[in-house]
Amino acid sequence: MPAMTVKPRTARESKRNRRERAGQILAELARLYPDAATELDFETPFQCLIATLLSAQATDVSVNLATPALFAAYPDAHALAAATPEEVEPYIRTIGLFRSKARNAVATARLLVERHGGEVPGTMEELTALPGVGRKTANVVLANAYGVPTIAVDTHVGRLARRLGFSEQTDPDKVEADLKELLEPDDWIFAHHALIFHGRRVCHARKPSCAACTLCPLCPSCGKV
Ligand code: SF4
Repeated sequence: MPAMTVKPRTARESKRNRRERAGQILAELARLYPDAATELDFETPFQCLIATLLSAQATDVSVNLATPALFAAYPDAHALAAATPEEVEPYIRTIGLFRSKARNAVATARLLVERHGGEVPGTMEELTALPGVGRKTANVVLANAYGVPTIAVDTHVGRLARRLGFSEQTDPDKVEADLKELLEPDDWIFAHHALIFHGRRVCHARKPSCAACTLCPLCPSCGKV
């Protein structure tokens, strides 16, 4: 349990205190989840992009069950670009929204071939120009495939950021900006993964396990959600 040297956030918490509290929370998260990393399986930036596209509104487990056969059949952008969405659908039928995801995956692969020689680009602007790729997906790819310091805000990161008093925003882009202002760039990728780990294991959306949460002394929402 971390020492409670900084009081949990109140409306009047200073920026300095919030930063210090965030540092203590990150230290506790590092103790809890030293190996926090993406739970999606992939080997290349292309596979990272496709797996991330498929994971929207679906579990990582369901994506990981489908991608070995998908990537064996379509190992790179050139192979997937030559397929039709109907040919791809059977590989991802067990994943939610598989029809639109098959369409987006093939369209994305074709654009990768047309614009980027089959490679996945490494900038936010180029990534978000791809079909079905929003800021969150682009941030995941930048961080996980290329190690670019950034914070992808998914449902877990957004919820945790608000409960921990790091942000009052509901717009993921604004939460991302709040987190980036609060945390050091070197901690951004870890913070993203660790908040997801904690959100999946302890700070659940409907019923957070505050009684078992070692962040409680540092969390303004402890016992109040
Ligand atoms: S104390 Fe409760 S609300 Fe705060 S992070 Fe832990 S589980 Fe979530």
